[in-house]
Amino acid sequence: MGRLFAGTPWDRPPTCDRCGKPETECGCPPPVNTPKRLPPETQTARLKLEKRPKGKHVTAISDLDPDGNDLVDLAAKLKARCGSGGTVKDGVIELQGDHLAAAESALKAIGYKTRR
Ligand SMILES: [Zn+2]
Repeated sequence: MGRLFAGTPWDRPPTCDRCGKPETECGCPPPVNTPKRLPPETQTARLKLEKRPKGKHVTAISDLDPDGNDLVDLAAKLKARCGSGGTVKDGVIELQGDHLAAAESALKAIGYKTRR
């Protein structure tokens, strides 16, 4: 079976994005998808108490870069600290219930600045 674009300008062997060599000659290590984490000290988390239907409260922690922070891990720490359930939705950590004070002190203990 011939190559799909044989004889056309697209008939080029695949090359490595990083060294530019054909993939058969590339000696680059496999790509590691390491997200760039930001130090907590340079970030300000915004805490807000939100009211949900049926009178439920949710503590929302926003303004944290989803790429600069491991929000899932942070949410797990906050959930443990507040003894509540929670989720990460659209880059916002939500804790079920009113945990403003506990979440704020937990964030500060990690190093984040906070504002309400
Ligand atoms: Zn390479």
